[in-house]
Amino acid sequence: MTVVAMGMPAVRTGLPSMDGRPDTPQLVDRFGRVARDLRVSITEKCSLRCTYCMPEEGLPAIPADELLSTAEIVRLVVLAVRELGVHEVRFTGGEPLMRRDLEQIVAGCRAELPDTPLAMTTNGVGLAHRARALAAAGLDRINVSLDTVDREGFARLTRRDRLDSVFAGIRAASQAGLTPIKVNAVLMRETLGGAADLLRWCIEEGCELRFIEEMPLDADHEWARTNMITAAELLEALGTRFALTPVGREDPSAPAELWQVDGGPATVGIIASVTRKFCGDCDRTRLTADGRIRSCLFSDQEYDVRAVLRSDASDADIATLWRGAMWNKWAGHGIDAADFVPPERSMGAIGG
Ligand code: SAM
Ligand code: SF4
Repeated sequence: MTVVAMGMPAVRTGLPSMDGRPDTPQLVDRFGRVARDLRVSITEKCSLRCTYCMPEEGLPAIPADELLSTAEIVRLVVLAVRELGVHEVRFTGGEPLMRRDLEQIVAGCRAELPDTPLAMTTNGVGLAHRARALAAAGLDRINVSLDTVDREGFARLTRRDRLDSVFAGIRAASQAGLTPIKVNAVLMRETLGGAADLLRWCIEEGCELRFIEEMPLDADHEWARTNMITAAELLEALGTRFALTPVGREDPSAPAELWQVDGGPATVGIIASVTRKFCGDCDRTRLTADGRIRSCLFSDQEYDVRAVLRSDASDADIATLWRGAMWNKWAGHGIDAADFVPPERSMGAIGG
């Protein structure tokens, strides 16, 4: 196995070690986990510049010939479902709406995979114009990232004044049937005071809100454990406006813990990605926009599936690489370890 340095994560060429791997088509790892949830990043470009994710100037552009094409993405997604036991696919980025061929990617996957749930994580900017076409192409549902319903606060956090476009996108998606709509909010000190207003807005709009602890995946490397807002602080802030009753997790591999709001039926979820251990239940496998398989958000070990794909490899060759990449997935992110080093790629370059 050779490791090639590219100013990006170390890309592994050749076949990963298969030592001890059981003979199963599924994406199993050494710790007994099985990856069934595929996250596909389709671009590094974005219409926003959230401070916890992107640098102000945006990410360096991926050269066009290094980006996976429509047909390549469809081939890999179909293969993951048919050969590797993937049950669910989510398109992400960067901002997936920045790709003009998003509808074609969705339609291509849907044509081959009539029963596989296809979802998207989006910032919602410009979604109002495309929600119906995406639903018609076969997209099932969306998660929208929205951290605050305060216009000035939104503009400060995302470095763009686009809150109205996000509101319009969420409403259009709801009308197009891309439901249930989940809203993701990253816990930041700047927006904590508006968390209760965001929850009230989501309840009124029929969206399911989930807060996520900020992870050390910002491009500016400013994350500090001592500065992050924890799930406990959020619960205290929400508790001043709402009566919250814990109801546990939706299912074992869903990282959000749910609370019933004011006796229900509305709930709010919290993903304590830093303060509570959840790697043991992780069922994700990732594909980056430039064609690397990644087994974990925090691991810089990447496998170059684009090179294999473009070398006229068979589906069986690609499947073997993917299985090996996941077999070597590590146990956990290690954020709490004294020697923790954040990964080279920021969240927008991996695909959250
Ligand atoms: N642009 C789309 C969006 O914002 O939904 C998709 C890509 S974005 C990288 C995917 C998710 O990652 C978003 O919900 C975003 O809030 C989350 N995210 C980005 N940076 C993060 C960080 N440092 N910690 C936790 N979540 C983060
Ligand atoms: Fe763009 Fe999403 Fe990152 Fe915000 S979180 S900068 S919307 S990729």
